[in-house]
Amino acid sequence: MSKRIPSKEELAEFREFHTPSCGFFFRAKKHLFSEKSVFQQIDVIDTDSFGRVLFLDGLVQTTEKDEFFYHEMLVHPAMASHPKPEEVLIIGGGDGGALKEVLRYPVKSTTMAEIDAMVIEVCEKHFPWLAPVRSDERVELTIADGSTFIQESDREYDVILIDSSDPVGPSAVLHQQEFFWRLKDHLKPAGIIAGQAGSPIYHLASLREKSLFLSQMFKFSFFYVGPVPTYPGGTWSYFFVSDEINPLQDAAKDIPRGLQYYNAEIHRAAFSLPAFLKKELG
Ligand code: SAM
Repeated sequence: MSKRIPSKEELAEFREFHTPSCGFFFRAKKHLFSEKSVFQQIDVIDTDSFGRVLFLDGLVQTTEKDEFFYHEMLVHPAMASHPKPEEVLIIGGGDGGALKEVLRYPVKSTTMAEIDAMVIEVCEKHFPWLAPVRSDERVELTIADGSTFIQESDREYDVILIDSSDPVGPSAVLHQQEFFWRLKDHLKPAGIIAGQAGSPIYHLASLREKSLFLSQMFKFSFFYVGPVPTYPGGTWSYFFVSDEINPLQDAAKDIPRGLQYYNAEIHRAAFSLPAFLKKELG
């Protein structure tokens, strides 16, 4: 039987496997970038459905069309709950989406510690939101491993955001308890740490592990969820920890205008977890 020749469209398909038997695919109109950095394979494609898509080691990181679901939910629950967020740290976040959201607040400074300079260069060229925020004089960009950066830093922050990739490769260290002890040492009074915690569908074990050690480390330790169409399982989870700020009492105020997903009602709803997740996280 002759070998079936894949069609031109199939050849242009970009597949992301969520499990060995299911995943997501994109038909690429154009393959805009493909190179291996010191840390990871970086690809950018252009698609009809989601505009430009950034992949790191074959995993979707952000897309032009649905980035706001993720970046607004990563940033605003913490920023809107803090009484006066002036000094902010973002660990990871090379695509600049989280930085874009933080700069909507009258912060004094936002430091971003991203390990891979190539991610920033590529995103500056292919994702329209990064260039303008990088030139904001409140931004201090450092190319560094987040774990080393925080170990060597002598500064304290009001809000620390962990916008890491999944707990594999260079990002693995950012999901370990040791790293969170270091972060805690750099929190100002009323400080908050928030970050992405993976898919509540496919990454339950990692979520449970994080929930266990964060609840031992902080007075307030919450998880919250929100949809991200192009992430595994279509919904995503985040953590919010603080020794002084309770996101359900210190309700979100001064929410910036012009957001597409986050608002005060979504803030409250996001912390109401589905029954299976409440059970899993105890
Ligand atoms: N929104 C994406 C997600 O949830 O999968 C992640 C956004 S961003 C692209 C993840 C960033 O973390 C990448 O730019 C990657 O280079 C960076 N990163 C991975 N490990 C890191 C580390 N140890 N220190 C600092 N940045 C790191």
